Amino acid sequence: MAHRVTLIPGDGIGPELAEATTRVLDATGIGFEWERVEAGEAAIASHGTPLPDEVIDSIRQTRIGLKGPITTPVGSGFRSVNVGLRQALDLYANLRPARSMQGVESRYVDVDLVIVRENTEDLYAGIEHMVGRDAAESIKIITRSASERIARYAFDYAVANGRHKVTAVHKANIMKLSDGLFLESCRTVAADYDGRIEFEDRIVDNMCMQLVQKPDLYDVLVLPNLYGDIVSDLAAGLVGGLGVAPGANIGTEAAVFEPVHGSAPKYAGLNKANPTALILSGALMLRHLGYPAEADRLETAVRETIASGTRTYDLGGSAGTSDFADAIIGRLSAGVDAPASLAR
Ligand code: NAD
Repeated sequence: MAHRVTLIPGDGIGPELAEATTRVLDATGIGFEWERVEAGEAAIASHGTPLPDEVIDSIRQTRIGLKGPITTPVGSGFRSVNVGLRQALDLYANLRPARSMQGVESRYVDVDLVIVRENTEDLYAGIEHMVGRDAAESIKIITRSASERIARYAFDYAVANGRHKVTAVHKANIMKLSDGLFLESCRTVAADYDGRIEFEDRIVDNMCMQLVQKPDLYDVLVLPNLYGDIVSDLAAGLVGGLGVAPGANIGTEAAVFEPVHGSAPKYAGLNKANPTALILSGALMLRHLGYPAEADRLETAVRETIASGTRTYDLGGSAGTSDFADAIIGRLSAGVDAPASLAR
């Protein structure tokens, strides 16, 4: 039976990446029925809103979404569709793995980090107002329940995936109440995993420096929303950039898989953008659906394709989006096993 998946192509480079990715996922042989819905700029034209109810309704039914990036106006205009979706569906855990790839130039060759970002509160709760004409306030919300829930997700992920350490990232030296509560919640949850998963914490500014200098010291990081957003781009930069950084938004009732990167409007429609991040988000979706062997096979095909020299412009190559997808499909169809160095 085919899996029904809500497909949100998104804005900018989103539609061409979605086309490449659905072709690759169809080539795994698992069988998908894509329920295509519009969100973002395309939906404003057709529905008068960037996040029509039918998008949420569709994901509530299929329980799985695959999503391209969506443009968010800076400073004014509509609220982020991404934040709206995560909040409406309570997709509380944002999982962003960052792992080095052979053939992708970067400062390190052996980075293997997993960022677990709280996705529903913090400064992203969107509670802002002007105080008179010349001051503005944004309210940072941190709750014990959301902090314990994300910490538990990080520890459970570590156990299930053979990881050894969780590092909580915060600024509790300055925000003693809000970040203090986040840290205290992480410590409470860590006690339940004592002896199984190591636990430590880092102040976010120090964490950034440590990641740039010694990323090999870290394993799974758990962070409140804003630090998680920033540090996951930093981690993407450590492994070759946004073009190769996948992500997943996980809740108890639904999950939406999307790349870390945005809609890169200047490359829209040029068949140039790198579909790796969305394809690897698709591999995370396969794991979530219970197909770990197929996810391994897909990740290996992506890694082999890049290692063999078929690369998009951002990785120093000249392959177009669709050529790159074709090369992966070719490898999947050939069913060639990867050398151990490329397999997970
Ligand atoms: P961006 O990620 O779109 O682009 C940053 C840089 O990375 C650009 O140089 C871009 O060309 C490059 N890049 C990004 N993805 C690439 C890919 N797949 N292949 C090759 N190069 C790629 O970030 P931005 O310019 O800050 O944001 C553009 C828009 O995207 C904004 O409206 C922003 O709000 C939105 N955005 C959306 C999401 C999302 O939908 N989850 C995430 C981040 C940003």
